[in-house]
Amino acid sequence: MSNENISSNFIRNIIVEDLETGKHDSIITRFPPEPNGYLHIGHAKSILLNFGLSKEFQGRTNLRFDDTNPLKEDTEYVKSIEEDVKWLGCNWNELHFASNYFETMYEKAQLLIKKGLAYVCDLSPEEMKEYRGTLTEPGKNSPYRDRSVEENLDLLERMKNGEFEDGSKVLRAKIDMSSPNLNMRDPIIYRISHSVHHNTGDKWCIYPMYDFAHPLEDAIENITHSICTLEFEDHRPLYDWVVKECEMESVPRQIEFARLNMTNTVMSKRKLKQLVDEAVVDGWDDPRMPTISGLRRRGYTPESIRNFCTAIGVAKNNSTVDSQMLDYFLREDLQPKAHAIMGVTNPIKVVITNYPEGQVEMLEMSNHPKDETMGKRMVPFSREIYIEKDDFMENPPKKYFRLFPGNEVRLRGAYFVKCTEVIKDENGEIKEIHCTYDPETKSGSGFTGRKVKGTIHWVEASTAVSCEFRLFEPLILDDEPENEGKHFLEQINPNSLEVLEGFVEPEGIKGLEPLDKVQMVRNGFFSVDNKLTTSDKLVFNRIVPLKSSFKL
Ligand code: ATP
Ligand code: MG
Repeated sequence: MSNENISSNFIRNIIVEDLETGKHDSIITRFPPEPNGYLHIGHAKSILLNFGLSKEFQGRTNLRFDDTNPLKEDTEYVKSIEEDVKWLGCNWNELHFASNYFETMYEKAQLLIKKGLAYVCDLSPEEMKEYRGTLTEPGKNSPYRDRSVEENLDLLERMKNGEFEDGSKVLRAKIDMSSPNLNMRDPIIYRISHSVHHNTGDKWCIYPMYDFAHPLEDAIENITHSICTLEFEDHRPLYDWVVKECEMESVPRQIEFARLNMTNTVMSKRKLKQLVDEAVVDGWDDPRMPTISGLRRRGYTPESIRNFCTAIGVAKNNSTVDSQMLDYFLREDLQPKAHAIMGVTNPIKVVITNYPEGQVEMLEMSNHPKDETMGKRMVPFSREIYIEKDDFMENPPKKYFRLFPGNEVRLRGAYFVKCTEVIKDENGEIKEIHCTYDPETKSGSGFTGRKVKGTIHWVEASTAVSCEFRLFEPLILDDEPENEGKHFLEQINPNSLEVLEGFVEPEGIKGLEPLDKVQMVRNGFFSVDNKLTTSDKLVFNRIVPLKSSFKL
């Protein structure tokens, strides 16, 4: 599947052509996040695309912080972005901050003024909107459009020196107020903002706008292919205009591709930040978040994310991917790798009344159902065990093959047990279940006397290690929360987190470190939480259940 996708990747075709025709000797791509939040799975698609292309064609990729908007940016985000990119297995050639180019950008703005291609405008934001026109009507020239070069240079310098208030003046490119493309109607290229920047402090009080800054950043770094999402398609003429009129030596080419959208997922830093700020989740790395740090903490692997991104491919049309597809690739990745152990997430006690009191026997079990090379371990068994509450029913429906009064089931890797009695407390709640076992039926003994239909897992009680299991459902209920007319905060799933106290077998968890993964028999793939786990208590996040009806 991956090869097919690579060959149909239209961006790759452009690069092949550029290399064949000699337009470029080698390629340079970049990943340019704004450090105003944590990266999400959509960014992973962009990261893997940019780094993947340069790797394939022996080129280079820069990590560039597009930090031209001081109010929303923060060093905490810079750190997290670096960590996430590395975790995905991508190593940048150069690390840059767009803010380090502020001086050059300022000089380019002066150049535009000198060429009669930029002017300082005093219109208020409301007036500017009015002058801008609409899709069907041309705009009107600003009354400040014909200021002289000298006056413009002087005003820009005074803007820079802090003589004017925020919003009182802007620098605009002088292009065409009647262009059918609204982005070309004298776009703003500099604005005043008296604020402290995470990198440049209070050195600047004017900041370049994205559409002016971004092409310059790309050109300064000799980026050959500047890959961005589709909403910038209409900005491309302006991108090309800036590179040309600022007389940049290196001419990057902007190429747009479809952004990743996923079912039951919001994919925008602004919205994810709202979930954090309003404490809907417990931080950017909450295991329910589609952030890279959230996915990591939940237990997703870089391999599963990489294979997912390869499989969805690169397209020119926006579409929404089923979030279960990522789960599919997680299972594919972990199925052969993760040790299988037994854990009971929602326990109820079973007493095997004919098993000798005080005896604990050790049963040998494989660490992986299909791979003998992963070895074996010893699992204790005794008179008292825990099973899942769900594996017992007092009054079962037809076709229920697990434990119920009078029925016999197989305890995985141990013996057949038959339910003889249900013990209840004074409130009528089931306290424990009594069973008898048949010593003849020991697993591996070759017993063929009779068959049972159900096999359930269990954990021996006296040696069981208590731990916490955190089970998740999608955070967002609606399949397409970004559709119009629905606010995503009204679509929060009240059952997205379930916390259970249960048990795991002692040998199976020996040496487990935070973020280590296991498959718990019948329950799913789990990862050790790296924040809540303490030396006294293991906390497991369920990454995904073992099975799903989802098909690729
Ligand atoms: P958000 O709206 O989530 O803040 P953004 O596009 O503003 O996203 P940036 O930090 O500016 O975030 O993005 C860095 C790069 O990641 C850009 O090149 C952008 O096109 C890309 N990107 C962002 N979101 C997605 C997505 N959902 N799918 C693919 N690429 C994306
Ligand atoms: Mg952005």
